[in-house]
Amino acid sequence: MIQITCDSCGKQKPAGPSTSTDKWIMGWDLEGDTPRSSINHTVRFLDRWDDRRILELVGIQFCSERCREKYLNRSRAA
Ligand SMILES: [Zn+2]
Repeated sequence: MIQITCDSCGKQKPAGPSTSTDKWIMGWDLEGDTPRSSINHTVRFLDRWDDRRILELVGIQFCSERCREKYLNRSRAA
């Protein structure tokens, strides 16, 4: 069992099956090694949450669309 937290607001994802999980968004930063200031900063997101892939990908997770937007805006503005 791994603890998943929103990379934008720090909210923890509730454990176990829940209807709220479909609001969570998972993705990964394709250029995690490059500075945040890079204009080529590229982030990919999955269409749906998948608990199995979270184990494969050391990615980024958000509790909502709003948090994802916040993260992306911060990345571009940095
Ligand atoms: Zn959040």
